[in-house]
Amino acid sequence: MAEIQLHNTLSGRVEPFVPQKPGEVRMYTCGPTVYDYAHIGNYRTFVFQDILRRFLRLRGYKLNHVMNLTDVDDRIIANAATAGKKIREYTEKFVQAFFDDCKTLSIEAPEHWIRATDHIGDMVQLIQRLQEKTFTYPGEGSIYYRIAKFPAYGKLSKIDLTGIQAGARVDNDRYEKESARDFALWKAPKPGEHFWETAIGPGRPGWHIECSAMAMKYLGETLDIHTGGVDLAFPHHENEIAQSEAATGKTFARYWLHAEHLLVEGEKMSKSLGNFFTLRDLFAKGYKPSALRLCLASTPYRRQLNFTFNGLQQATNTIERLRNFADRLKQGKFPAGEQEGMAARIARAAEEFDASLSDDLNTARSLAAVFDLVRDANIAMDKGEFRQGDVAETQQFLATFDKVFAVLEDNDAQKLQTLGFTSAQAGLRNEDIEKLIADHTAAKKKRDFATADRIRKELADRGIILEDAKDGSVRWKRK
Ligand code: AMP
Ligand code: ZN
Repeated sequence: MAEIQLHNTLSGRVEPFVPQKPGEVRMYTCGPTVYDYAHIGNYRTFVFQDILRRFLRLRGYKLNHVMNLTDVDDRIIANAATAGKKIREYTEKFVQAFFDDCKTLSIEAPEHWIRATDHIGDMVQLIQRLQEKTFTYPGEGSIYYRIAKFPAYGKLSKIDLTGIQAGARVDNDRYEKESARDFALWKAPKPGEHFWETAIGPGRPGWHIECSAMAMKYLGETLDIHTGGVDLAFPHHENEIAQSEAATGKTFARYWLHAEHLLVEGEKMSKSLGNFFTLRDLFAKGYKPSALRLCLASTPYRRQLNFTFNGLQQATNTIERLRNFADRLKQGKFPAGEQEGMAARIARAAEEFDASLSDDLNTARSLAAVFDLVRDANIAMDKGEFRQGDVAETQQFLATFDKVFAVLEDNDAQKLQTLGFTSAQAGLRNEDIEKLIADHTAAKKKRDFATADRIRKELADRGIILEDAKDGSVRWKRK
């Protein structure tokens, strides 16, 4: 097996991955801020960390992985106050939607799924440690972090601190590099907004202290891997490093992995630009969860992903092809024995699959290894050359692929129903139905009944009934 190499934002280089404790990985992922429904840009990052997690597990590592839910921050406090709700009451709907979405996208549950509001005491203690070490100062009821006291400030995001005035402060959690200043660890309460009474006074935590406190509580003072989207490198992760390392004197996280953005028409998908799709938007248009997962996973995480419906349709077709191939293997009756060279061909694909993912999770290359093998094996089957003796090895390879990509199981219809889509709502567009019927007819003509049945079942699952007309054509109607 190839050595795993990962790009570390801290060093700016691809490095061999060696965890502190052999066989174990301590990993932290910044979870969603549950002030609204997450969009597919957010899920690009969550699918990336899932691929990483699954690949490490495939390679035999035991994971201790934490993902938090940021259920208190500037936006949540403001929205909850406007809605006249307690913050837990306000966020509950979005927390539930996030869990549902993760299940729908086959994002594995981490070992610890935790909420910021359950850890206010840990945050207060960490701020007290920073106070004792004089990294803090008070200002109008808030507590600020003095970045001038931490000479390594900027080492992750490589910002230039020369123009920054000592003592200048920023109160927002999110700000641009140009506004790098002393940031708030603890925020004074504002009238009508939620706050906690604590040993450091009334108020609420800043966003950055939340992740430092929670990560170290569950994973110890030094983590192996910390992940998030690229926009979190500054200020969030830079500030996490400043807080954690000032308190402990130890390296906070050894490898920092950042996923590039998902773009629509050249711009970052974001709530504020209004150019976003939620999962539910896409499912309502008839796309499948598995296709979206594959679409999000197939571009390597350090490349921007330009989201298009064409790309999503391609992923849909790919899933179809892969599942048909898996069915063909399961149902096919092949001549006994082994095809010459096929065992070596499968071994080569498996090696290439592993080598590509070891190469900083090059998902595009690893998928190419799978598609190439599927193409070769399909050709061999069409020619009657594929043998029964090669089935198990091929299935084994597909199973390995699916431990990481998790798209083979044909469970999209159930997932959509669990999300509350009726089959008609999750309905296919007319042109998709026509295309599937044409595929169904073609499969029947080729006497490929496995594929024909799969298509008929898929259509039925999505509420489409086929009727054979007298003239031999096929008509359809929605249930
Ligand atoms: P938030 O809920 O805003 O804290 O974001 C949750 C995660 O989604 C973070 O890791 C962000 O970096 C990431 N994220 C936000 N927008 C995008 C995008 N357009 N593409 C990829 N990741 C994103
Ligand atoms: Zn975080």
